[in-house]
Amino acid sequence: MIGAGVAGLAAARVLNRRYANVTVLERDTLPYGPVPRRGVPQGEHPHILLVGGLRELSALFPGFETELLTLGGTALETGADICAYRLGRRWPVAPTGFAMISVTRPQLEAVLRARVTALPGVTVHDQVAVAGLAGRVGQVTGVVLDSGETLDAALVVDCSGRGSRSDRWLGSLGLEPPGQIEVKAGVTYSTRLYRRRPGDLGPWRAALVLPAGPRESMSAVALPVEGDRWIVGLGGWHVAEPPATPTAFQEYARQLPDPLVAALISRAEPLSDVTVARFPSSRRRLFEKAAQSPAGYVALGDAVCSFNPIYGQGMTCAARQAKALGDTLDRHQRVPDAAMVRDFYEAAARINETPWRSAVGGDFTFPGTTGPRPRGIALRNWYARQVTYASQVDASVYRIATGVQHLVDPPSVLLRPGFAARVLRQARIGRRAPAVPR
Ligand SMILES: Cc1cc2nc3c(=O)[nH]c(=O)nc-3n(C[C@H](O)[C@H](O)[C@H](O)COP(=O)(O)OP(=O)(O)OC[C@H]3O[C@@H](n4cnc5c(N)ncnc54)[C@H](O)[C@@H]3O)c2cc1C
Repeated sequence: MIGAGVAGLAAARVLNRRYANVTVLERDTLPYGPVPRRGVPQGEHPHILLVGGLRELSALFPGFETELLTLGGTALETGADICAYRLGRRWPVAPTGFAMISVTRPQLEAVLRARVTALPGVTVHDQVAVAGLAGRVGQVTGVVLDSGETLDAALVVDCSGRGSRSDRWLGSLGLEPPGQIEVKAGVTYSTRLYRRRPGDLGPWRAALVLPAGPRESMSAVALPVEGDRWIVGLGGWHVAEPPATPTAFQEYARQLPDPLVAALISRAEPLSDVTVARFPSSRRRLFEKAAQSPAGYVALGDAVCSFNPIYGQGMTCAARQAKALGDTLDRHQRVPDAAMVRDFYEAAARINETPWRSAVGGDFTFPGTTGPRPRGIALRNWYARQVTYASQVDASVYRIATGVQHLVDPPSVLLRPGFAARVLRQARIGRRAPAVPR
């Protein structure tokens, strides 16, 4: 395994069930507890683990949910606990039956890391950077470390994240790098931690502002996290100057279309400086279309597809790809030959396709977004809007749409004839429904 992020840790668990020895190589110094680290700078920003990802990780690590709660995580019923502003209005309360658990990314990673480190047959080495692949055109046989040492492996799994150097690594074996799609949406995050006290958000446990493009483009999230803290992230699409000082942060929050987050941070005690992240583009690498994939090497997680983080899909897709890796290995009698590798990339592409389309579809509602538009995007965005309008007035539509949004259910459930008819009927009512008072 190259990399001990969420993808690397989930995949290490999967491989541990199938191979006697799994070695995880991580460039960073790994901390003992839930501390942000250099190799994962996004860890300082809010990380929502979708319900699909929570379920996937709980299947890999039994007791995961309970552990997060014990460590100070907060369960959030998606329809009842989060004050959501979407499509230009505040959303009505309607329980969906889907609950997330809110913690910081370092906390989530610390739990996974402790679980993986304790597994017999898994060794985690930190401060070890991989510099290349060993092998030849058709077969990767191991990795070369930056010390020059070569480590042999039956299978190398590249979970080195968005900055993966696999193009160069594959190139040095004489292979063409995979094609790539990039959609530029100029997303930024500015994040600050605050002390959390009961009643800070009135009846709510979290707040979310998702702008309705093209009129609005500013987003916000306030999530309860361990240590009785709020993590508050402000951002948006095509932001030239993200707020980087406490004053600019307050000012930005005041311009949000819903006042709840600004009210929260005007009262709460700050516990950190403002941290800024820029995410210029979503990027997808088309390994499934590569002319040749060597046996013995797969890439997984952000190394394959790095989504606009505002939709919160990256960790869930990484966990689902890790599961797909195990399933594919089983179908191929655990022999990681070229056929297995190709099968895996096809499975990973199926996993990434829906979240990619919905994220990129959302991005193209903001003028200034550039890149290849998925086919049928206008119709898709229109129907997604109808589902959202209908969700406002029809709890069963909301429940089903939430299952799809949280990557629990496939998008095909939204297209069943009975459901689509109901959506179109209810959307007409939802569009005209009075907004929930603030
Ligand atoms: C601002 C921001 C907010 C986000 N919010 C969310 C969210 O709300 N929900 C969500 O699901 N996702 C979110 N994401 C995406 C999420 O962080 C990633 O999808 C997820 O971390 C994927 O993990 P990964 O393991 O593939 O990569 P990473 O987490 O980036 O891990 C890669 C690891 O590989 C190591 N590494 C790199 N190169 C080498 C090398 N040569 N040798 C050894 N080790 C190496 C790195 O040090 C690192 O530990 C967000 C991303 C950003 C930028």
